[in-house]
Order: sequence, then C-alpha cells, then structure tokens
Amino acid sequence: MIPALMPTYNRADLAFEHGDGCWLYTVDGRRFLDFGSGIATSSLGHGNKHLTDAIAAQAHKVMHVSNLYRVPQAETLAARLVAETFADSVFFCNSGAEANEGMIKMIRRAQYEAGHPERYRIICFEGAFHGRTLATLAATGNEKYLKGFGPVVDGFDHVPFNNLNALRDAIGPQTAGIIVEPVQGEGGIRPAHVQFLRDLRATCDEFGIFLGMDEVQTGMGRSGKLYAHQWSGITPDVMSSAKGIAGGFPMGAVLAKEHVAKALTPGTHGTTYGGNPLACAAANAVLDVILAEGFLDGVQAHAAKLRAGMEAIVAEFPTVFEDVRGLGLLLGFKCHVPNTQVQDAFLAEGLMTVGAGDNVVRLAPPLVVTDSDIDQALDMLRRGARRCLPSAATMAAK
Ligand SMILES: *Cc1c(COP(=O)(O)O)cnc(C)c1O
Repeated sequence: MIPALMPTYNRADLAFEHGDGCWLYTVDGRRFLDFGSGIATSSLGHGNKHLTDAIAAQAHKVMHVSNLYRVPQAETLAARLVAETFADSVFFCNSGAEANEGMIKMIRRAQYEAGHPERYRIICFEGAFHGRTLATLAATGNEKYLKGFGPVVDGFDHVPFNNLNALRDAIGPQTAGIIVEPVQGEGGIRPAHVQFLRDLRATCDEFGIFLGMDEVQTGMGRSGKLYAHQWSGITPDVMSSAKGIAGGFPMGAVLAKEHVAKALTPGTHGTTYGGNPLACAAANAVLDVILAEGFLDGVQAHAAKLRAGMEAIVAEFPTVFEDVRGLGLLLGFKCHVPNTQVQDAFLAEGLMTVGAGDNVVRLAPPLVVTDSDIDQALDMLRRGARRCLPSAATMAAK
C-alpha cells in the first residue's frame, strides 16, 4: 500500500529532532555534520538565535495578510536587496521554481510591452536545473524529468553550456532572452566561465534580448559575494533567488531592472503567500547576518580552507575522485566511483552531503560554518574516501 506521505523521494532513513549550528541530532540521539544545508538552504545553519527570534516575534504579531495590503517587512526587504544589487525592484514568492516562473513571465512580457510580441523564446543550457513546474521543467529540458507529463511547454531552446558560438547560433527573431546559472548546481557544480558570462551580457545587448540569471542556489552569500554573478562584474536584467534567502523558511524572489520589472503591472502576476510578513521577517534576519561587516569575507576564507582540504583529498585518493569544482561554499567532488557510494561513505562517517549530476558529490555547508567544523568535515571526508578505495571494497566483501 502506498505510504500516507507520497513517496516521491528516495529518503535516507534519518529523522532529525533538532539542530545546532552545522550539526543535526537524530531522534535516536546520533549526531551528523550537515554539509548539505537541506540543499544549500539552511544558510545560517540550525537554531540560529537571530533568525529564530525574528520568526517567533513576527509569528506572535502577524504572519499573513495577503498582498491586498501593504507589507512593511516586504518593503524593507525589497529596499535592502535593491540597495545591494543591480535590481531596481523585487517580487516575492515562495520557491525557486516560482521565482523562475516569474522571471520567465517578466522576460516575455517585457519584450511584448517593448513592441516585440513575437519574442517569447528563451535560451537555456544543457545541464541546467530551473525547477519542477511545467514551464521550469521545459526550461530545465531534462528528458528524464519531462517524461510522461504531457506536451512540453513551448518556448525553450537548449544549447551547450560555456559555448558562445552555439549560443549565438541559437538566437533567432523569436528569442526573448537567456537564462543561465552562474554555477550549475543540480547539473554537477559546473561554473560558467567568467568570460562566458561577460560574453552573454554583450550578446544580449547586441540582440536586444534579456539576460536572466538563476541564482536560486548560488545567491544569498553562498558564493562569497551576495550574488555569484557579482564575481564576473556583469549584471543581469532579471534574476531569481530562493533556497537560502530566508534560511530555510520557504521563500523566493525575482529581482529586476526597471525596464523589465515595469512590464508586470497590477493584475499581471501574483501570489497569495508571497512576501508575507513572516517570510520577510525571516529573510530580513538572514540579510542582517550576511550583510554584517566581514561576514562574506568569512565565507570566502572558509570556502578557501574547505576547497584546499578537498583538493588535498583528491590528490590523496586519485582512484576515488577526479577533481574539485565550484565556487565559494558550493563545492563538488567529481567522482570516479559512483557518487551515491561516496555519499553513503561520508554519511557513514557522520557527514551529510548532497548528490548532483555528472557523478558529483556536493558540499554546501551553512554559511556560518566554523574552522573547527571544516577540520572535522575534512577528517570525515578522508575516512569516507578510504572506504571507497577499490581494495577497501574487496576487503569488506570478504
Ligand atoms: C533548487 C533550484 C531551483 C528550484 O527551486 P525550488 O525551490 O525547489 O522550486 C531552481 N533553480 C536552481 C538553480 C535551483 O538550484
């Protein structure tokens, strides 16, 4: 019989009772070091007092009013994001896929309002992941996820990642814009080359199309800057953000330049929950921490330490790992042995990681990770790697 909780996931048999910083404690008293952050989402770790106090205080006052009324917490949050980014205006929603839906609609509608109703197609990249709604599935373009869900939403073209010639060849009279992840997360922690991002910006300007950035996974400090595209020096026209934005409270956002944002006039787009007082209180508390003097420098320093340790482990176990890839605290081991085996070995040592495409194991610790957490993680990674040596497997079989 089907379980009451719909079985759409392959869940590990672990149930957590509480957390503290980067550590999670199971209902049966075991402790794990969380270097997955619930898929790059628990940005302040677990039980962060500033965040939980802000959520509790707001919950006591008022959680939800709808967007029929002003929401001061949303006005404050939007003004802060505008002050810190390329954006002139922000739309709040509830998830990454929903943020990407908003971004897709904004790109299409802005072309329509600019006198180009024929421009509705969006170019996306092979290996991308943009979400699980019908349109974001089409943007993702992965056959495995699309199978059996009816006609694929029209208007998405796919080209190889980091290949400017292929991209330019795909631009046609119906092209409205491009959507790119600065680092492909689900696709295998594959960074866009800095020059490629600059070329995308120049190409969009040349053809009068819009550059959309999917920073659902890379944003909100994960790269060591507030948004990962800031490393390249270019700005998109529109960008989606979610995952870590409210530290684990469900939230998404679309940040846009005025020329795109102004296409969504009252009544053209909306959401019931999006940007409610509770979600915005959580996100404001996350921003308090991330924007504090020196915090992002700390993320960069911790990222450098973790990466150096991972590189050493790759050098030590060349039959298990191929390389280290990623940016900031979004790092991956490209594996020679199956990534699920590597992940299981890390978990057996007490370290939680997340799989990714391209046979990669992803490490995305909370942004509040400490030197001591990293030292302990590196020990677990080394011991886990040892479990994956072909000889270890042979010995275990005996
Ligand atoms: C996770 C993710 C999404 C989808 O976000 P959901 O909140 O699961 O809908 C979209 N784009 C990227 C890059 C992601 O990593």
